[in-house]
Amino acid sequence: MVANLGKAEPPAARRGTRRRRRRESALVWWAVFAAFGVAAWMLNSWRIALLGLVAWCLYQFLLVPTFCRVMTRQGYSCTERARGRLFACKPSHQHVKVDAIWRLVGLRNPLRAKAKEAHRDTGVVVFSPAVRGRLALADRVLILLAAAGTVVAVIGTVYGFA
Ligand SMILES: [Zn+2]
Repeated sequence: MVANLGKAEPPAARRGTRRRRRRESALVWWAVFAAFGVAAWMLNSWRIALLGLVAWCLYQFLLVPTFCRVMTRQGYSCTERARGRLFACKPSHQHVKVDAIWRLVGLRNPLRAKAKEAHRDTGVVVFSPAVRGRLALADRVLILLAAAGTVVAVIGTVYGFA
């Protein structure tokens, strides 16, 4: 959940001076998934289809070039870039996002101690409890879809290789 925390530099040092690098087009990724689909169809292999499904789920969780989109109290979402729908642009937003993902599945984040909550870093953007942890609709839908895909893949693997 914290894979891209290492990249975060002190905000003061990089604000304004950072230039956005070009990212690969999402079309590249869709070409990969299309190739999986074609291969599965041509070879009539559900195993390749399953592999494609796993790749798509991992892509949604970890690799998709997207935006942080953590909701701020002002009512708009963070426009910083992030990679993977589970990740955010900086540690403070990552905490919010992790909490939001737990809430998405109807649970409280078990890793978050009460004491830590009090010291949450809200120095840059203040989150009100009601708004904090709201995910953009597209993120919610795709995280749930990818989770469902993962479940299907696990079941398929168990049945396919048992
Ligand atoms: Zn952010």
